Amino acid sequence: MTITYRHSWRARGRAALPLLALALLPVVAARAAAAAAPAAEPPVLEEDAFLAKYYPPLDKANVRVTPIGDGVALLQGVGGNVLALTGADGTLLVDGEFAALAPKIEAAVHGLPSGDKPLRYLIDTHYHFDHTDANAAFAALGAVVVAADPLRARLASGGVISDGGKLRVHQAAAKPQALPTLTYDHQMTLRMDGEEVLLVHFPAAHTDGDTVVFLKNAHVVHMGDIFVRYGFPLIDLKAGGSVAGMIKACRAVLAGIPDDMQIIPGHGDLSSIADLAAYTRMLEQTSAAVAKARRAGKSLEQMKRENVLAPWVERWGDPKDPSRAQAFIDVLYHSGS
Ligand SMILES: [Zn+2]
Repeated sequence: MTITYRHSWRARGRAALPLLALALLPVVAARAAAAAAPAAEPPVLEEDAFLAKYYPPLDKANVRVTPIGDGVALLQGVGGNVLALTGADGTLLVDGEFAALAPKIEAAVHGLPSGDKPLRYLIDTHYHFDHTDANAAFAALGAVVVAADPLRARLASGGVISDGGKLRVHQAAAKPQALPTLTYDHQMTLRMDGEEVLLVHFPAAHTDGDTVVFLKNAHVVHMGDIFVRYGFPLIDLKAGGSVAGMIKACRAVLAGIPDDMQIIPGHGDLSSIADLAAYTRMLEQTSAAVAKARRAGKSLEQMKRENVLAPWVERWGDPKDPSRAQAFIDVLYHSGS
């Protein structure tokens, strides 16, 4: 696939090994890991049980609005970050939060300049429910739900999302009205509100159906959970993700964007190119460390015992909860590092 932006990009590695990252609140993985019993397969929680256990009541959650530029805003509740593009032609959202927050997202959009125009598009960055749960609610308001081809099948079937450690959540099959009605393969451009909205499919990154969304005039990009700010990321290996694909996607974005690009991560605050570059280096270095240990003949259990990611724990892990780093070692190991 060729992407024409500042540079031409060529997507590499459609195959790659699965590495799956469910971007949930950082604290969630830590608490789940701490709470579960060691050894044995950790239990699989249904969405409701998972939310009740680790999240504040969704109906009490508020939406924080950060204006980014002309007609562009970041909306943050408790799930994935939402980008809103508003203007004379209508509204486009990137990701939609949990369904319970849809009315508050809608109200926040109405408070934006030209936010009272019709909702036209909702782009899903990947299938995880903390990003897609409100699909049906926004489709009912008139939004065309847009996604990369593989996402539709993932949403339709549901699946078990794992962080490589103690966190395992069953995402139920989505109802038909929640499924994307407009899907694409390599890339696609939507034009509205004076903006060129470029969607690029990265096929083996956080999942197999990741979309990175560039607002080419506003110099804003939403990376979904390919880039998160809570430390070691979740990579959804079972849904076709891979650490190699995460790194390739980050490198491709870094190579193709102007220096003043503002970057919206899947979770966490608005970020800069320096933030994304540091995160990308961490992915490269940690995956190299696990690969080196593997070449030295170490088993997965040995790597966890020796904590081969120790040099990165202070900045990217949780020094008080070694299970987070251990979960990431597991993911890197099974991703083929
Ligand atoms: Zn995710």
